[in-house]
Amino acid sequence: MTMPTLSTDLAAPAKSDRPRQEPLIGLSRPELAARLSDLGVPERQTRMRVSQLWSWLYVRGATSFATMTDIAKDLRGDLAQAFTLERPVIVTEQVSVDGTRKWLLRLEDGKEVETVYIPEEDRGTLCISSQVGCTLTCSFCHTGTQRLVRNLTAGEIVGQIMLARDRIRDWPGASAEDPRGLPSSERKITNVVLMGMGEPLYNFDNVRDACLVAADGEGLSVSKRRITLSTSGVVPEIPRWGEEAGTMLAISLHAVRDELRDQLVPINKKWPLKELLAACRAYPGLSNAKRITFEYVMLKGVNDSVADAKALVRLLAKIPAKINLIPFNPWPGAPFECSDWEQIEKFAEVVNRAGYASPVRSPRGRDIMAACGQLKSASVKQRASARLATPA
Ligand code: SAH
Ligand code: SF4
Repeated sequence: MTMPTLSTDLAAPAKSDRPRQEPLIGLSRPELAARLSDLGVPERQTRMRVSQLWSWLYVRGATSFATMTDIAKDLRGDLAQAFTLERPVIVTEQVSVDGTRKWLLRLEDGKEVETVYIPEEDRGTLCISSQVGCTLTCSFCHTGTQRLVRNLTAGEIVGQIMLARDRIRDWPGASAEDPRGLPSSERKITNVVLMGMGEPLYNFDNVRDACLVAADGEGLSVSKRRITLSTSGVVPEIPRWGEEAGTMLAISLHAVRDELRDQLVPINKKWPLKELLAACRAYPGLSNAKRITFEYVMLKGVNDSVADAKALVRLLAKIPAKINLIPFNPWPGAPFECSDWEQIEKFAEVVNRAGYASPVRSPRGRDIMAACGQLKSASVKQRASARLATPA
């Protein structure tokens, strides 16, 4: 397996005296057209040039302008001077025994985020981050113990998809260096979930713009049905997300009573369950084929009783819903334990009997701290040792 792990020093962006080039990845088509006009491309050509660029960027995964042979050489030169196609820099790449891959990425300003790739037999899910850290403080989530540093740009969000495609060579004509564990589907990244670091609805515009780029059918082509945004419950933004982005939605529910949810997901004090569920009911386009996913982390002795399970199915009765029970992923100093397997099974049985199929999400990548809620967390401390441990 050739999986080089770059050291922090190697990964540092090269210093340059040239003026900083603007990242092209993540711009919308109209933004791209405006940049081309600025470069002097005549009005009547911009549409065609945007299509050409779009295809090089998002269908073929070009990493340099020099390869864009159907674009005039002069224009290629101008583009290369003004713009960059760089992806975030990989600080470490870790591969779990179950095939899950986690990348610690360094952004232009030195801040770091994580992206996780979860391959299954017939699909591959990429879990991307929307913020560095998170302003919210859900008590079971390690990301929540970090101070928010900043929102990611649309380019940094799309960049995570580009980077992952580069690393698993999910571009046409490319083949994986190490295909073990990759899905049998033609595309290796079939689904994208906004379940990494951050609360995506607190970075609404950039996340929306990134999703629209990712969903473009003449580009990355990850359809809106295969993009899921997970929110802790920023209620006023839910209808707007439905209108402006229209991806699938997941709600971090975790409790069926306000009193408990106030403690686990403190944003509940601002927008309690009743308001959250009303926003869910009104989410556009819901049907049995397009359901909202409700995530429910299993915390021993806290929210995992059979009575809670019954209350959960009652609460969601009139909403086209999927239920996702997530075994709690521990992190150092966490004030919770994962429910016993027996208890998870009892809980799942109630949920199953109410007609929800396979509700338990099996934890992936726990050995590399890539599972839900573990992101970034220990990576700061673990980085040095993880780098050594990564297969080279
Ligand atoms: N901020 C968004 C998206 C990121 S969290 C949100 O909260 O929805 C993705 C999912 O992982 C959420 O459902 C979150 O509640 C859950 N999660 C967080 N910490 C966890 C942990 N330690 N174990 C299991 N799931 C966790
Ligand atoms: Fe932020 Fe989501 Fe973690 Fe809550 S669960 S602290 S919203 S990342």
